[in-house]
Amino acid sequence: MKDFLLSVIIPVYNEEKNIAPLLRRLLPVLEKYRHEILFIDDGSSDKTASEIKRFISKNSAIKLVRFLRNFGHQMALSAGYQLAQGDCVVSLDADLQDPPEVIPKMVEKWQKGMQIVYAKRSVRDVDGPFKKLSAGLFYRFINFLSDTKIPSEVGDFRLLDKEVVSYINALSEQSLFLRGLVAWGGYPSASVEYKRERRYAGGTHYTFSKMANLALEGITSFSTKPLRLATYLGFVFATLGVLGVVYAVLGKIFLPEYWVPGWTALFVGIMSFGGVQLITIGIIGEYIGKIYKEVQRRPKFLIKEKVNLD
Ligand code: UDP
Ligand code: MG
Repeated sequence: MKDFLLSVIIPVYNEEKNIAPLLRRLLPVLEKYRHEILFIDDGSSDKTASEIKRFISKNSAIKLVRFLRNFGHQMALSAGYQLAQGDCVVSLDADLQDPPEVIPKMVEKWQKGMQIVYAKRSVRDVDGPFKKLSAGLFYRFINFLSDTKIPSEVGDFRLLDKEVVSYINALSEQSLFLRGLVAWGGYPSASVEYKRERRYAGGTHYTFSKMANLALEGITSFSTKPLRLATYLGFVFATLGVLGVVYAVLGKIFLPEYWVPGWTALFVGIMSFGGVQLITIGIIGEYIGKIYKEVQRRPKFLIKEKVNLD
């Protein structure tokens, strides 16, 4: 067990200023393990790749794969899982928000037989109130909808045993919500707590729309309950419609002198029906879009260059 290989996979997108500080902290931590560090350059337009190559010329444990364009964080991680050789694989952000010093604790739990070790954020105080609130709501919502329990306060900083990695690699899904897929497998898991740090240099690449996309991807990958919700909404409004008819008929018969032909009720009815129908079509559309993406079978990413990798 002593002589295992530890892979660290790091997706990078325009992180030129973070590479050197990251390696300065990561390399001492990895010294005691046989290791490889695999950077996945997700189509950076700055000097990220040349910065990494500079380190590769000095250290043969560092490897680099470059995407042709930006394919997204989840795709970069999935490329990392495909190319990593390790007996266990740790995924890490490049911006030092995930402190590398946590890795030995994760390895310890893995050596005790845990095939997934999550790094769990003990405090989220470095994130803004909006991110905290939206993340909290998202996890509550997705766990309400989904049968797979997706642990909250857990990001993409985790250790996976090579068996879990090959399960991930065998998945043929196009849309990768890795946090969910990792949990779905049901492998024995543990977590270690850490304090999420502030981003070292630059700003977040997760814009609001990327976050919203990830959230929708997560929900539609792990639950078809929204479709059922659409059906229920249909029933509720159909029932209201029937009650409205009964009300109108009774009113006309028993209280004809008070009965004003009301267009307000009509208008409200049309508006709310229209709204519900649009929402429902939207929900169905989400799933059809998903099926469409799956049947296209496009490659998840395209590789421009591999450095120090076969
Ligand atoms: N990242 C990536 N592709 C993207 C966006 C981000 O590879 O399209 C990388 C980024 O370089 C970083 C990690 O994913 O190493 C997490 O991104 P970020 O720090 O911007 O997200 P946050 O921590 O704010 O959620
Ligand atoms: Mg970050």
